[in-house]
Amino acid sequence: MTVIYDRVALIGLGLIASSMFWAMKRAGAAGEVTGYARSAETRDTAREIGLCDRVCDSAREAAEGADLVILAVPVGAMATVIQDIAPVLKPGATVTDVGSVKRQVIEAVSPHLPEGVHFVPAHPLAGTEHSGPRAGFETLFDNRYCLLTPVEGTDAQATDRLFRLWQAIGANVETMDPDHHDLVLSVTSHTPHLIAYTMVGVADDLSRVTDSEVIKYSAAGFRDFTRIAASDPTMWRDVFLNNKDATLEILGRFTEELFALQRAIRTGDGDLLFDYFTRTREIRRGIIEAGQDTDAPDFGRVKPGS
Ligand code: NAP
Repeated sequence: MTVIYDRVALIGLGLIASSMFWAMKRAGAAGEVTGYARSAETRDTAREIGLCDRVCDSAREAAEGADLVILAVPVGAMATVIQDIAPVLKPGATVTDVGSVKRQVIEAVSPHLPEGVHFVPAHPLAGTEHSGPRAGFETLFDNRYCLLTPVEGTDAQATDRLFRLWQAIGANVETMDPDHHDLVLSVTSHTPHLIAYTMVGVADDLSRVTDSEVIKYSAAGFRDFTRIAASDPTMWRDVFLNNKDATLEILGRFTEELFALQRAIRTGDGDLLFDYFTRTREIRRGIIEAGQDTDAPDFGRVKPGS
């Protein structure tokens, strides 16, 4: 495999960054990879497990001289990080990010980019509920989508090169308008997470009444919610604060549908419920047929080797 970037810097060393590192090494797509994380603890862990060729004690040191700088921190931290590293960015370098929200990240990063540095926003649609440097694995992006959301004026060559990197590390890459991305992801990821957080919260309230029954008899439906609701609190707080409009729009629609189902239950409208659930079952089938999930009872999301 050919090297796509001679020097790559990973800022943030959590699930996504570590998976990118192992996948880039598997593909031989990057020369030297430097890395930086905010806490000494994470940097020590990275050194211990061989995550990155060189772990640096400052973001500037990691970013200096890099051909590609990947911002793999929570969405709310992007602005601080880019301001910190901007003075050392190499002319002609590309900055990218992996944030789950795109419009706000573009607005946070763009004003701080030095002349001659390209910014190509990206979002891999792959993840688990685990976080931190040990959570990553090289196959995370295999056959998953990665959406690039370049804005008007983004350098086409820089976009193409990043496109090739994501392909090399296993992803199906597509480009999308940033606002459209935020709306689509609000439907497919952000609002479902909020609903899962809410459902687990409701069960938690209930468990105070029923002692441990909620945990003890936790059946598949609730267990799936708890898996999603175990996702990183910082990351998800930042997602909702930064994708406010789209989330509120989809939540509004969700509430209307919920009321319709509530009324069907109250009035005993079995036909409505049956038709509704038949339609939703088809959506699940479509996802499996598109190769984006497996039919396995555990949803096929068990980490390889675990
Ligand atoms: P993670 O495992 O929690 O790792 C986050 C990393 O960012 C950690 O190394 C953390 O350092 C560092 N960090 C946090 N705040 C920082 C700051 N202010 N300055 C410098 N470093 C900071 O997170 P992740 O799951 O990899 O997510 C990273 C990004 O990917 C987020 O923007 C998220 O929206 C996006 N994303 C996540 C998923 C997913 O499913 N998890 C999927 C697609 C995209 P410390 O360890 O030292 O605190």
